[in-house]
Amino acid sequence: MTVDWLKIKDHGLYCEPGGFYIDPWRPAEYAVITHGHADHARPNNKHVLATSGTIEIMKHRYREACGEKIQPLPYYHHLQIKDISVSFYPAGHVWGSAQVLLDYRGQRVVVSGDYKRRYDPTCEPFEPVSCEVFITEATFGLPVFTHPDDSLELQKLIDSMKSYPDRPHLVGCYALGKCQRLLLRLRQLGYGQPIYLHGALEGLTQLYHQHGFDFGELILVSTIDKKQLNGQLILCPPSALADRWSRRFEDPVIGLASGWMRILQRAKQKGIELPLVISDHADWPELIQTLEDVNPDQLWVTHGQEDALIHYAQSKGYEAKALSLVGMEGESE
Ligand SMILES: [Zn+2]
Ligand SMILES: [Zn+2]
Repeated sequence: MTVDWLKIKDHGLYCEPGGFYIDPWRPAEYAVITHGHADHARPNNKHVLATSGTIEIMKHRYREACGEKIQPLPYYHHLQIKDISVSFYPAGHVWGSAQVLLDYRGQRVVVSGDYKRRYDPTCEPFEPVSCEVFITEATFGLPVFTHPDDSLELQKLIDSMKSYPDRPHLVGCYALGKCQRLLLRLRQLGYGQPIYLHGALEGLTQLYHQHGFDFGELILVSTIDKKQLNGQLILCPPSALADRWSRRFEDPVIGLASGWMRILQRAKQKGIELPLVISDHADWPELIQTLEDVNPDQLWVTHGQEDALIHYAQSKGYEAKALSLVGMEGESE
């Protein structure tokens, strides 16, 4: 079976019979967007098709540059675009994230965007969709990447706060998805204190809140005297850990919530005292599990550590190849 109607062109992954790009890296006439992360959802496309969650995120980020014609498509609904039937299925990655199922004359291709298989109260869980071609990322596509249960990692944070009741705990997390997941999971684990936010995390968290996510009491760091932050939990974007902003805190415990924290060397280099291995991307066992669950004829691997996953898939009898997508390297996580 050959799927020759989906290819890499100048703006990214292009579906020829539908005349649209998926997550184009340059402004396109017609863009189908898997989710709101900036390396997938870019501004200035003319026509945008996405889930309503993703559209809310894009509007929040890009305002009128979000797109000229914006069309929401709910999960499980079908939209005919020329000769292609398009539908979205939950990807379990961040709020609104979708896998795109393309059906062209009975050939089914799933473009999964980014996904994970773990519990995440901010989004619908990933759903395996049967198809001939499954397109996957492989950010953590090496056997060394096995992510622990997030409740164990967050318990480490809660325990550290008990052990060092006078030190502020400063935890870096990505502003879209990771931050809101941490907030909800901490509340579920019984952490009832106010949680302090860096200003860069406020907007998206408020957007989630407007759409029904309840994070308990949140306070902006900028409104508080730094002495009152001893013994408190403060979330900030990862970049803020290294800049001047973080110097205002007295003897902080520095943490970072990322799948990359599995590599302790990396944590050490960045001066992270409390590495929290919490990822919104599939780890190696999840990638393998997904391959088995979806059971496609072919696996196309986009960004990340392609080689090991391709080799593994081939050893199990799947056709597998790399699909190089520019601009997706080094996934922010
Ligand atoms: Zn993403
Ligand atoms: Zn990505």
